[in-house]
Amino acid sequence: MFKAVFPGSFDPPTLGHMNIIERASFLFDELVVIIAENRQKRYFFSAQERLDMMQELVKPWKNVSAIIWDHLIVDYMKQENIRLMVRGVRGMDDFSYEFELSMMNKALYPHIETLFMTTDPKYFVLRSSSIRELASFHGDVSAMVPPLVAEALHRKNP
Ligand code: ADP
Repeated sequence: MFKAVFPGSFDPPTLGHMNIIERASFLFDELVVIIAENRQKRYFFSAQERLDMMQELVKPWKNVSAIIWDHLIVDYMKQENIRLMVRGVRGMDDFSYEFELSMMNKALYPHIETLFMTTDPKYFVLRSSSIRELASFHGDVSAMVPPLVAEALHRKNP
């Protein structure tokens, strides 16, 4: 079995995230999307809201599941004996950050490999934080997020 994790905040999930998930679902037997819950971070959507959205969104792919995790990602990987972590990169800024993160994870757990997947050019400008900001000004986010996420953003920004 070739298993991988795709961790992130997904606050909220965007079409960029979903594109990585779709492409990764074809590469691995099983993909676990890890909704990170870091107690020191403030999120716009609660972990449960992010999980509910993600579980609905991954329904088309039978080999993709989603969970909430509030410890180190590598601890989940150790526990589940998963060696591959997928990360998406939109450009050089993402890459330098992701590269450092992968070095840190490798130091924590040398058995893991980080696989970088480049964004689809259609989605390279999509960033959860900008989408949240746009939604707060009632901007149109329908080309950036799945419809259920657009609705959730509208509910939070009446
Ligand atoms: P962000 O708030 O930057 O969207 P997340 O923690 O939710 O970040 O992202 C989870 C993973 O998805 C990260 O590896 C991030 O680089 C990647 N990602 C985020 N947006 C995109 C996108 N538009 N295209 C490809 N990968 C993306």
